[in-house]
Amino acid sequence: MYTVAQLIGGVWGAGGAGGELVVHDPADGSPVTTVPVATADEVAKAVEAAQETATEWAGTAPADRAAALHRAADAVEAAAEELAQATTAEMGKPLDDARGGVAAGIGTLRQYAELAPVRGGRTLHGGQSSIDFMAPEPHGVVAAITPWNDPVAVSCGLLGAALVTGNVVLYKPSERTPATGWLLAKALDSALPAGALSLLTGGGEVGAALAGQAVDVVAHVGSTATGRQIAAAGARTGAKVLLENGGSDALVVDSDVDPVWAAEQAALGCFANAGQICVAVERIYVHREVAEDFVDALTQRAEALTMGPGRDPGTQLGPLVDRRHRDHVHGQVTAATAEGARVRTGGTVPDGPGAFYPATVVADCRHEMTLVREETFGPVAPVIVVDSFTEGLRCAADSPYGLAATVLTGSMSHAQRAWRELPVGTVKVNSVFGGAPGGAAQPRRGSGQGFGYGPELLDEFSTVKTVHIEAPGGGHW
Ligand code: NAD
Repeated sequence: MYTVAQLIGGVWGAGGAGGELVVHDPADGSPVTTVPVATADEVAKAVEAAQETATEWAGTAPADRAAALHRAADAVEAAAEELAQATTAEMGKPLDDARGGVAAGIGTLRQYAELAPVRGGRTLHGGQSSIDFMAPEPHGVVAAITPWNDPVAVSCGLLGAALVTGNVVLYKPSERTPATGWLLAKALDSALPAGALSLLTGGGEVGAALAGQAVDVVAHVGSTATGRQIAAAGARTGAKVLLENGGSDALVVDSDVDPVWAAEQAALGCFANAGQICVAVERIYVHREVAEDFVDALTQRAEALTMGPGRDPGTQLGPLVDRRHRDHVHGQVTAATAEGARVRTGGTVPDGPGAFYPATVVADCRHEMTLVREETFGPVAPVIVVDSFTEGLRCAADSPYGLAATVLTGSMSHAQRAWRELPVGTVKVNSVFGGAPGGAAQPRRGSGQGFGYGPELLDEFSTVKTVHIEAPGGGHW
């Protein structure tokens, strides 16, 4: 059982007068973590303390900040197995996936430690006796508010980039994975000066209190609904708002691909991490010519997955994060079937403990259904048959979200059309996942704003000061 403590003003164990939350293991319902809830007053005090530390950390030489981040990465590496175990215990994903998320997070910390000190700005020579230069500077105080679905990888990205560019950070991990956030904060804090990092815990109300404070940046990875509330708070306070939010990513299957291979791709995209990935495949538009074979193969793939607790080595499909989320997923599936869709496999809530939900294939869906248009975030593959690649692209583009999309096609011209025509941050051709290390993307529409990953995130957490210098008296230097 984990007992989480907050870190406020460099002091572990501070605050928590807002009560206590208990997190339950989604595999069996047993209690895993107790976590204190910050009051609005504690949040305000933490922001005040962070503001007092900000100037000193901003004034630390970039190479020294980078060295501190390397030491922080060492500390996270030393805690890697503990972090992976906590992730699986709190949100249920298979342990190897959790280990992969921790390894990705460590890699990101090291990448930012290497990249940050070599960044510079432009210089302009306006005349013989003058020079302009643009120097990156930290914003000051950053609030980082994070989700539960890949808690270490996502948090390492935001925290690493914000800290190494000279910002102090108030970290609010998800109330569904607070021990994971606490273990990560402990490891990072061990390598940083006191006060550079604070940890505030609790639910959405703590995040809202933080986003309403006079901080300089609010970086939020999470749902679109929350992102919109944070954007509204930022409009009131003047904070810069960075949002990496939900999606409803489409997969378009062309008529010229092997339907069995396409089904393997679809199964990976829909069922990995039980569908709880921001760029999971949420809706499939398959060409009529291959639709029947594709759906048969996808159904077989879904039925072959081993469902079980994430800690069991043979598990391929862990539970959903909790029963509240399972109700949301199952609600969308039953609404679709009530509107005429047909469940080919799955679609029922299993008996027994935990928050398990089977890999589910729903055929005969229509583009207008909520299951198709909205984010499900579960192991569900809704299939819509289309009569042409053009129709598939048009449906894929018609969404309130704009995170990512995949097309499977043997046609170079269709691939070219896809990346040009789809209004999303990332277009993938012939692979549902992947992407080069260090890659970044800009979400569109309801999926957010700004770069949440890659070297570009260092720019998001920096502001630029432009300096114009002339020789005194307009003459000699
Ligand atoms: P969520 O928005 O409910 O919670 C995320 C964080 O926001 C938590 O720490 C939560 O306490 C906090 N929060 C909740 N209400 C708040 C409010 N009113 N003001 C401020 N903070 C508040 O999201 P979630 O359920 O934890 O995560 C799942 C969502 O995250 C999915 O929609 C998924 O697509 C998205 N996600 C996006 C990316 C990406 O890069 N685009 C990555 C991972 C997850």
